Amino acid sequence: MPPDLIAQAFRSQAAPVEFHGRWPAGRSIVNARPTKVAAVFGTRPEAIKMMPVLREIDARGPAFTLCNIITSQHTDLLDPLLRRFQLQSHHCLNVLRPGQTLDQLLSRLLAALDAVLEEASPDLLLVQGDTTSALAGGLAGHHHKIPVAHIEAGLRSGSRFSPFPEEMNRRLITQLATYHMAATPSNVQTLLAEGVPPERVFLTGNPIVDALQIVLASSPPSDQLHALLQELEGQRIIVLTSHRRENSGDTMRGYFAVLRDFIARHSNVTLVFPVHPNPAVRRECVRAGLAGPSIRLIDPLDYPDFLHLLRSAWLVVSDSGGIQEETPSLGKPLLVIRENTERPEAIDSGCARLVGKSPETLAMMLDELAADDTWIRGVQATVNPFGNGNSAKAIVDALTNVIDPIETRSSIAS
Ligand code: UDP
Repeated sequence: MPPDLIAQAFRSQAAPVEFHGRWPAGRSIVNARPTKVAAVFGTRPEAIKMMPVLREIDARGPAFTLCNIITSQHTDLLDPLLRRFQLQSHHCLNVLRPGQTLDQLLSRLLAALDAVLEEASPDLLLVQGDTTSALAGGLAGHHHKIPVAHIEAGLRSGSRFSPFPEEMNRRLITQLATYHMAATPSNVQTLLAEGVPPERVFLTGNPIVDALQIVLASSPPSDQLHALLQELEGQRIIVLTSHRRENSGDTMRGYFAVLRDFIARHSNVTLVFPVHPNPAVRRECVRAGLAGPSIRLIDPLDYPDFLHLLRSAWLVVSDSGGIQEETPSLGKPLLVIRENTERPEAIDSGCARLVGKSPETLAMMLDELAADDTWIRGVQATVNPFGNGNSAKAIVDALTNVIDPIETRSSIAS
């Protein structure tokens, strides 16, 4: 990448501009109205990653007004987070229907957003990541000619159907967004290589690192988790999470069966699996016979408890994106049960290994680690390649000092 492009992209991190109560074009906030920012989110990882940014926006006082548009894509997982993080729901879209297809979800989201954006008329939309909620936010923003800032921009697995539908969602959101908040230099490079104008790309880190730091500093384990960890003292804990749509069916059942057999052969290992509410995941647990005294199937944990559980793990096995971003901060070894990863930085950090879409490979890797756990013992908390905990500040600095949404909106509209 040419050095001037890198310099531009790195601008927000290399030389963060403090907010001094004046707009970039010299407009004083006394004369200018606050920028109305609407955040569209509705899944567990979106709430976790959006929280630090919304707090930071709130902390900037009169420069912004905030409007949270909650899509409620995951109600069971989202509501405890909204309560814990004290995130207000200004508009709740209530689009969840049992067994609905992606198209039905997307069309419900678009219809609901159409009405809300008409009424709320924000200057800027914030979307995060690659969910159907984020795609709907990007598309509705485009239809309403509202500039969209995309947090966690520039991730690519390189495979249209893995993860599904997230890989295509994130590519489409790149086309729809005006501003792109990239977590890593390689994400910046991807966006520039795809022709995104460099002045629209900001290297900010991923606010999940901020969220993890905020939560670990302020929330001890609950009594229930404390009791579970005490009960399992002396055991090697494998923490499992799995919910990816492209794994459901034979592959997920295969991974679960491998873990069941591994646990049966190792009396010093216990599996703790906070089971995702998706019925497809629960079905595969039953079909794989994932049960027994050393297999703890539990409800999804509150975010702080889940982080404390990860901290106690001997090994983490997961298909989650967010967990790949968290484990480097926690110094925990992770086996990624996916065909590929859009987060190669986790592998490069030495904290994660890619299993591939192959239960047989998982079985082989587990056997190797049981025989020789040098890698596991060697994984230490490291400089997290996804951020340093200042991502929310970098994002909001970009919003305040570099981006002028009010002007942008009028120029898009004209
Ligand atoms: N997580 C949680 N409780 C749990 C399992 C996961 O709070 O019981 C958190 C986890 O720490 C991570 C996020 O949820 O921050 C990951 O969510 P998910 O796996 O649903 O989505 P993905 O990361 O794959 O987009």
